[in-house]
Amino acid sequence: MTETTPTILWLRRDLRLSDHPALHDACASGQPVIPVFIHDDEVATLGAAPKWRLRLGLAHMAKALGETGSKLVLRRGSALDVLRALVAETGARRVVWTRGYAPGQISRDTDVKSALKADGLEVQSHPGLLLFEPWDVATKDGGFYKVYTPMWRSVRDRDVASPLPAPTRIPAPKVWPDSDDLDDWQMGRAMNRGAAVVSGHIHVGEDAARGRLGAFLAHRVARYKSERDRLDIDACSGLSENLAYGEISPRTIWHSGWRALHEGHAQAEDFLKELVWREFAYHLIYHTPRLESQNWRPEWDGFPWQGEGDAVQAWRQGRTGIEVVDAAMRELYVTGRMHNRARMLVASFLTKHLLVDWRLGRDWFAECLVDWDPASNAMGWQWVAGSGPDAAPYFRIFNPDTQAQKFDPKAAYRKMWLAEASRTPPETALAFYDACPRSWNLSPKDTRPSPIIDLKDGRERALAAYKDHRENQ
Ligand code: FAD
Repeated sequence: MTETTPTILWLRRDLRLSDHPALHDACASGQPVIPVFIHDDEVATLGAAPKWRLRLGLAHMAKALGETGSKLVLRRGSALDVLRALVAETGARRVVWTRGYAPGQISRDTDVKSALKADGLEVQSHPGLLLFEPWDVATKDGGFYKVYTPMWRSVRDRDVASPLPAPTRIPAPKVWPDSDDLDDWQMGRAMNRGAAVVSGHIHVGEDAARGRLGAFLAHRVARYKSERDRLDIDACSGLSENLAYGEISPRTIWHSGWRALHEGHAQAEDFLKELVWREFAYHLIYHTPRLESQNWRPEWDGFPWQGEGDAVQAWRQGRTGIEVVDAAMRELYVTGRMHNRARMLVASFLTKHLLVDWRLGRDWFAECLVDWDPASNAMGWQWVAGSGPDAAPYFRIFNPDTQAQKFDPKAAYRKMWLAEASRTPPETALAFYDACPRSWNLSPKDTRPSPIIDLKDGRERALAAYKDHRENQ
């Protein structure tokens, strides 16, 4: 290798400069670095909101790279074909990237790695998405964790390396390879009217992520445990959006959380615990890839889940007549996010009261969430449905009304998102009508729908269905 032989840095969901082991490695030799993002099938199949949000993250990353004297090269096609073409064009001898752990990523990356190695290239994948590599966390008998709490105990006191600094200059090649124009990829096309509305609620890029972390630690961490379940209080960090695109590293968050704990904020420990739920999701999807699409517990196979129908559409539109469920579904459409407690409630309502297949809920979240994450989403749905590891037992069926009284005691959250039945709806509630498809034909002047199911009847029907399924297995 000569001093001008470049290294290709294949960027994926790691759109940051600081604490980026693959970037650090690429820069270490002082040889030119060519950062590339590839619009492959994995990107093409993203839902509307995550794809649109990814585009914003890429534009931001391109700017950040520009400030270090580098560039973001954009190419479309299969990852292997694109990387091979870039190698041929630039004379690169090394390719590096940050590891992914979802089943599709693993199979793609494995194929790409072995093909490039067979071509005689040096290929190196790095950690960076997680705190702990899924294979580095094991039970006493060497297996993987199927229950969260023992995993938390096993990792809580581990040493986690300090975050790496961001490079101030990234060595550039003399000649840059051609790049596509980001606008030509039209990654926001499926967002239709939603983009203008959701834009007001997102925080794009590394600085925004750090700002979010700083604000959370300064104002909210002290009451995190007591308030994180409250629907009407902004008590959480909001960092899932940035974690989803790698705009902040989990190590950066982990070390900040520990600092807050040492400074006397005991509830910071609960924040660290939540971060480890994300680790648990990746631990599980790595060791049991079926988490993504199949019932994690095979005894759920054959359960008579309902499919598409009017009830599912009413759920998507926030027209079930159950106020807290509808409010949450509108929050999702307007902000691209949903409160964690609300995610559990709408998922429970769909899979238990309506007996709908959890995969339909998973897919709607994958379409609408700007913080969509393959592991946390699949785990969240299976956890609530009861088919997943460490899942809520089948007989735990949230009563949405009781939950609303507890976590939204003054109905502030419901009023914030529901326009019908209010003479002076707030802007948040009205924004839903600007964002939702015209074909839904909804208006704030509509009357509130009556409940599509009586909560007591729905609960009994679900319990009877589970009992029947278990007895007939
Ligand atoms: P905070 O309360 O500030 O927590 C800090 C971080 O911990 C989060 O950013 C997140 O990375 C992690 N975390 C917190 N709760 C969980 C959890 N239950 N599971 C895994 N990690 C967690 N999270 C996603 O990031 N993407 C998803 O697609 C997603 N889908 C979900 C679907 C369902 C049905 C359910 C029940 C949960 C889902 N979650 C998902 C988990 C959780 O709701 C979000 O991570 C959380 O609401 C993000 O808000 P925050 O960043 O303010 O969290």
